[in-house]
Amino acid sequence: MSIKLTQNVANATENTLNSYQYAIFVLPENEDRNLPFSQTLFTKLSRVKKKYKDLEKSPLTVDLPHGGLASFIILNENLTPFQRHTLLRKAIKQIIEEHPENIALCVYGSETARSMNACAAYYVLTANAAQLTNRKKDHAKSHLKIIDLFGYQAEHDFSFVNARVAGNTLCRQLTTTPPNDLTPSSYREKVSTLAKQHGWQHEEFDMQKLKEIGAGAFVAVGQGSDPQDAAIVHLTYQPALAKKHIAIIGKGICFDTGGHNLKPAKYMLGMHEDMNGSAVALGILLAASEMQLPVKIDCWLAIAQNHISPTAYKQNDVVTALNGMTIEIVHTDAEGRMVLADTLTLASRQKPDYMIDFATLTGSMITALGDRISGVISNRPALACKAIGAGNMAGERVVAFPYEEDFDSDLESDVADIKQCTLEGGGDHIHAARFLGKFIEHDIPWLHTDLSSANRKGGLGAIEADTNGFGVGFGIEMLKSLIED
Ligand SMILES: [Zn+2]
Repeated sequence: MSIKLTQNVANATENTLNSYQYAIFVLPENEDRNLPFSQTLFTKLSRVKKKYKDLEKSPLTVDLPHGGLASFIILNENLTPFQRHTLLRKAIKQIIEEHPENIALCVYGSETARSMNACAAYYVLTANAAQLTNRKKDHAKSHLKIIDLFGYQAEHDFSFVNARVAGNTLCRQLTTTPPNDLTPSSYREKVSTLAKQHGWQHEEFDMQKLKEIGAGAFVAVGQGSDPQDAAIVHLTYQPALAKKHIAIIGKGICFDTGGHNLKPAKYMLGMHEDMNGSAVALGILLAASEMQLPVKIDCWLAIAQNHISPTAYKQNDVVTALNGMTIEIVHTDAEGRMVLADTLTLASRQKPDYMIDFATLTGSMITALGDRISGVISNRPALACKAIGAGNMAGERVVAFPYEEDFDSDLESDVADIKQCTLEGGGDHIHAARFLGKFIEHDIPWLHTDLSSANRKGGLGAIEADTNGFGVGFGIEMLKSLIED
């Protein structure tokens, strides 16, 4: 459902704002006691023993005399996008929890500040107002319908922000869908519907076809499910003018039990979100096509479940991947790199200019970084540097890990060309990337994104919900920067 935005270059008067139940004020850095509801704000500030400048550190939400609710915040010009988003998320939290239908957004300060803050606040508001699927009986039904912006009029209609929100929302909607509602079969149907709606070319490699072409790494994981409904789904967005050709790839494990190396209950809970990488890829594809970015995108989704069953793969199995390499299975819970290996081969055979994959891949990336930042690894150092910049621009932070050849010695196998992983530790997130790199043909420049920050309790950056859609904003910035490369 779309939100109507009105833009007014003039500031709102207190009289105008008295007709709103909800308002957000992004205040100027210098105190101005003539702004609407100043008296109410300063009374509250003195009651909680805070100064005007403290609004730079944490926002204040205040009840207004007419019964409305308003949040006040100052956003310093030197904030990073991540810091700006985080402060705005805190500012709107209480307001969004009441499911408002309309909100007044008032921005002040310099032209640059108003432009930057109007954009960021509009993104944070609309992204957090998006309704996700919820089957609770008393789930709040009201939707945000109108945002009236005061104090700034852009030359654009914020449609690029709407596109990012649509991508983030799609990603979070899919990721939070319960696993009995999002099986590989139903996921594939949803993707097929999306492809029709958005005019993407659509192609599927089902288990039958994957067995025929010899994609033994993917099949090893898919064979443990009944029905065998796993598939690699390939979507293409082809604009009339394409300056670059980029492949985006996502891990789509609809539920990960760990397989024969079964996860304990505490670690299996939440494993319906192991398809998040594919949802990020879809979110980027949706946003890029709504923005009409001049780039051909091949989107590859590795959709499967990792089950325990008599037909499931097991430790010490040796399988042959699509590129002909034999893999010794070491741990059945390292299924992500198995489904991605063949998917990366397929993607690279189209010879795109770049490849970017997204996966909730390793526990060791979470050990290394926690859940605030995600890690990237690339076969081109310059691409990893570009990724850090793109993450900063998007307010979705990434840091780079090494892709050094000597890590390969840990994956040497006595019975196959390569080991799937090692049980000896030593940086599984790097081993995973070294493993995946072997399946890319034509030495395509490639960026691997291990989504350690896909879910953070209490929210992250712009997003208040635990499942935050991290990667969609980053991916869009990555595309934009690679298009101009
Ligand atoms: Zn796993």
